[in-house]
Amino acid sequence: MRFRVGIGYDIHRLVEGRKLILGGVEIAHSKGLLGHSDGDAVIHALCDALLGALSLGDIGEHFPDTSAEYKDIASSKLLQLVNEFVAECGYKINNLDVIVIAQEPKLLPYKKQIREHICSLLGIRQEFLNIKAKTNEGLDAIGQASAIACYATASLIKEI
Ligand code: MG
Repeated sequence: MRFRVGIGYDIHRLVEGRKLILGGVEIAHSKGLLGHSDGDAVIHALCDALLGALSLGDIGEHFPDTSAEYKDIASSKLLQLVNEFVAECGYKINNLDVIVIAQEPKLLPYKKQIREHICSLLGIRQEFLNIKAKTNEGLDAIGQASAIACYATASLIKEI
């Protein structure tokens, strides 16, 4: 197959006493995302989108949250490992698209830095990654700022 497409989704609870890390970038906020790792929902959704495009299952199968090896791991490291799977399977990233849904904090000031960080991790040009930040219009747990969710899609192209 020349082209493959995958979808990823993740959500983490916002709690006090944790750093907020999204897309590998530390964001100034009074709360952070709860998780076995750093809780980086953006990176987790991207990992699942890439794994989905490769038909390689999901992030939980590869990096179990019951494993001490992954306790408090920087999720950026997981994305680099998944990126190695992409190359090993003979593909390269065609493009990635991300929607982060956070009622707070405002992510606009961080979008550029997140994009630069992820592109440098993956070794791709910035035009191949788009980041969109939305609120949930005050609705449900995300809208009440109790959680941050993220959707991602990945398109891969066969290396020739
Ligand atoms: Mg997660």
